[in-house]
Amino acid sequence: MTATHAFWLAGRQATGDTGFDVTSPWDGRLVGRVSLPTDAQVEEAVAAAYAVRDEFAATPAHVRAAALDHVSRRLVERTEEIAQLISAENGKPVKWARGEVGRAVSVFRFAAEEARRFNGGEAQRLDTDLGGQGRLAFTRRFPKGVVLGIAPFNFPLNLCAHKVAPALAVGTPIILKPAPATPLSALLIGELLAETELPAGSWSVLPVPNERMPSLVQDERLPVISFTGSDKVGYAIMDSVPRKHCTLELGGNGAAVVLADYASDADLDWAATRIATFSNYQGGQSCISVQRVIADAEVYERLVPRIVAAVEAQVTGDPSDGATDVGPLVSEDAARRVEAWVEEAVGAGARLLTGGKRDGASYAPTVLTEVPADVTISCEEVFGPVLTVQRVEGEAGAFAAVNESKYGLQAGVFTHDLQTAFRAHRALEVGGVVIGDVPSYRADQMPYGGVKQSGVGREGVKFAMDDYTYERVMVLTGI
Ligand code: NAD
Repeated sequence: MTATHAFWLAGRQATGDTGFDVTSPWDGRLVGRVSLPTDAQVEEAVAAAYAVRDEFAATPAHVRAAALDHVSRRLVERTEEIAQLISAENGKPVKWARGEVGRAVSVFRFAAEEARRFNGGEAQRLDTDLGGQGRLAFTRRFPKGVVLGIAPFNFPLNLCAHKVAPALAVGTPIILKPAPATPLSALLIGELLAETELPAGSWSVLPVPNERMPSLVQDERLPVISFTGSDKVGYAIMDSVPRKHCTLELGGNGAAVVLADYASDADLDWAATRIATFSNYQGGQSCISVQRVIADAEVYERLVPRIVAAVEAQVTGDPSDGATDVGPLVSEDAARRVEAWVEEAVGAGARLLTGGKRDGASYAPTVLTEVPADVTISCEEVFGPVLTVQRVEGEAGAFAAVNESKYGLQAGVFTHDLQTAFRAHRALEVGGVVIGDVPSYRADQMPYGGVKQSGVGREGVKFAMDDYTYERVMVLTGI
């Protein structure tokens, strides 16, 4: 019998009256049973976080940094076990899950480093204008208040780390709400935090069901909402609490642009390999997966067969097998949705070059060309292992095609030309432009987030710390 996992209420383990099962999307086996907090327990966690906020803000930076370093070290020690857990609950191939643990290690380490140097204070002379003689302004950053962190299923460990570590680094309490499909990785972060000296109440991990989230979202003691997930849910949350500070890290339909100067055999082989890998990486369930390839007409004919060959070389199958590149999607429903979108595109005239088959929750890596602009897969985020290849004329045509999307998260541009790189950086309506690679590159310390329908605000450890705090100025007079 599988033991029931407790949740974390104000730094200690607790169980409620009911629970839910977490099953593997690969074979349906039971991975764990998780206890659900009652309304009274959720209230207890919020009250504890609210009550401890001043005490926590006053905790010495070295104490917070030591706790974050501890979690980082423990993640290193337990990497293999945690990677297997992520793979089991999410269906992510274990080789990618190991990479996710490594990234979470870095997130906690970056947060420890930033905690040590954050908020040194900055002075500004005021005598540069009339009336400012003898005055000095001094600014420091203070927490906006308790953070409600809401995480998606696709990086169940690292995107929880991106919520929790910056909050603890600035000394603001956090209530973390993991995705229902993947709560076990988040609960494991709780296990490691419980080994630290952080004050009780400064953190909770509560697997609250979606239907009970509106009251938590509305709670005035939680003025900061850091949400990562779909645009539909994210904007509904923001619209329901217009006076709260909301950071929304939402979806995208990442474009990889291949320009005419990227034309040698070696160039096209590299571009095709990167595109194939990162359209299928985690079954395409990454917000910066390659969904759209936008290729200059001069390289299109030579690029497409290379992409198809590289996509067909992806190893599909059991995510616990270290050789597997592409596992199942998070659920059979998700795979059925992808199947329906591909069928719609093919019915409207798209050419299916490879893939297009579903088996339970698994969907075969798929390449489409000649896809009409108005079908769902051209407009929405597919969040599955499917890419479309579009032929365009020249750089201007390519950049316009990227910007046609309602999303704007990241874009990749394969070019060798520095001037082109700067023009891309200026022209593309996205939060990040990656030159010489796919849009799927993310380093956890860099600013990360979208424009347009891809969200508002930035994560990346230091940027989330800025986001969770505000500058309060002190004016000194008579000095
Ligand atoms: P989702 O929007 O379905 O769920 C995200 C979270 O919101 C989950 O924890 C869910 O339980 C919770 N939720 C659902 N209804 C809610 C409600 N009414 N109130 C409060 N919370 C609620 O997203 P998902 O399917 O878990 O994740 C996939 C999406 O996340 C994709 O769109 C992907 O692009 C996006 N994503 C974005 C980033 C980024 O950094 N920009 C990173 C990863 C994933």
